[in-house]
Amino acid sequence: MKIVIFGSGLIGRCWALLFARAGNTVQLYDKEPAQLNGALDDIESKLKGLQSSGLLQGQAVADVLKRISTTTDLDGAITGADYLQECVPDIVDLKRNVFAQLDALVEKTGNSKIILASSTSVIPASTFTEPLKHRSRCLVAHPINPPHYIPVVEVVPAPWTSPEVTAETRRILDSIGQAPVVLNCEVEGFLVNRLQFALLMEGYRLVEAGVCSPADIDTTISKGLGLRWSFMGPFQTIDLNAPGGVDDYCKRYNPGVVRVCKDFGETKDPSPETVAAINAAMREEVPFEDLAKRREWRDNRLAALAVHKLQM
Ligand code: NAD
Repeated sequence: MKIVIFGSGLIGRCWALLFARAGNTVQLYDKEPAQLNGALDDIESKLKGLQSSGLLQGQAVADVLKRISTTTDLDGAITGADYLQECVPDIVDLKRNVFAQLDALVEKTGNSKIILASSTSVIPASTFTEPLKHRSRCLVAHPINPPHYIPVVEVVPAPWTSPEVTAETRRILDSIGQAPVVLNCEVEGFLVNRLQFALLMEGYRLVEAGVCSPADIDTTISKGLGLRWSFMGPFQTIDLNAPGGVDDYCKRYNPGVVRVCKDFGETKDPSPETVAAINAAMREEVPFEDLAKRREWRDNRLAALAVHKLQM
C-alpha cells in the first residue's frame, strides 16, 4: 500500500515506522522542513531499538528505512495513495484547516478512494469533517504512545463515515500488527481515556480523602491489577473469578460492585493540596531531572513486555 503520514512529529514518526515495517511505501509530509530532516534519523534509531528487541520481524533496519521518504509535495503524495494518517497537534481549528486542505486535494487529484484518518486523542472527527465533500472517507484512528510497543488503536467513525471505510481501516491496522478497537459511534474520550480517567479520578478522590498515599495507588496498579491487565481485560477477569463465569460473578458480586460505585465521590478537579501531594510523591520516586531517563526506562520495559506478549 501507499501511505501518507501528514505531520512528522512524535506520533507521525511512529506511524511511519509501523507502516514501513509491514512492507508499505510511506511518504512523510510536514510543513516544517526542519521536522522532516530530524524525522528519518529518529525513525532509524527507533528501528534499531525494535531490532535489538527482536521486534523487526527479521528485517534489516536499512530495508525498512528505504521504504520511507520525506516530501513537501502533498499533491504528489496524495495521488494514488491508499491511506493518509494525519498527525498534527490537537487544535480544533488546525484539524479543520488541515482536513479542508486534504478534502480539496482529494478532489483535485481525483483520488476519492483514499482514507483520511486522524490520530487525534480527543477530538471527534465530526468536529472537523462535517462540511467536507469527502467526509465519508474520514475517521479517527487514535494510537497510544509509543504505538510500536502498545498496539491498540481506537477507530472512531463520524456519523457520516462510510462503514466500508471503517472496516478497511480496521483491516489496514490489523495488517501492520496493531490492535484496532472499533467504536460504533463517537463518545467523549473514546475508550482509552474514559477507562483511564475513571481510574485517575478515583485515585484523586482517595488521596484527597486521606485514604491512602499517592504511592499506594500506583503500587496497587503496578504490582497488583496491572499485572493481570497486561494480558486480559476486566470482563475476562470476572469470567475467571467466579466458578460459573460471568453470570455467576454478576449474581455473586454485582451488589458489591454497585454498592462501592455508589460510594464514589464527586467528579471534580483535585484540590491544589492534592496535586501538590501527588507531585511530591512522584518527585520522591523520580527526581525531576531524571524524568527523561525514566521515560527511556518505561519504553525499555514496554519493549520487553511486547516481546513477552509475542510469545503468548
Ligand atoms: P507533534 O507536535 O510532535 O507533531 C506535530 C507535527 O505536525 C509537527 O511536525 C508539525 O510541524 C506538524 N504540523 C503542524 N501543523 C501542520 C500543518 N498545517 N501541515 C503540516 N504539518 C503540520 O505532535 P504529536 O504528539 O505527534 O501529536 C500529533 C497527533 O497525534 C495529535 O492529534 C495527538 O493528539 C495525537 N496523539 C499524540 C500522542 C502523544 O503521546 N504525543 C498519542 C496519541 C495520539
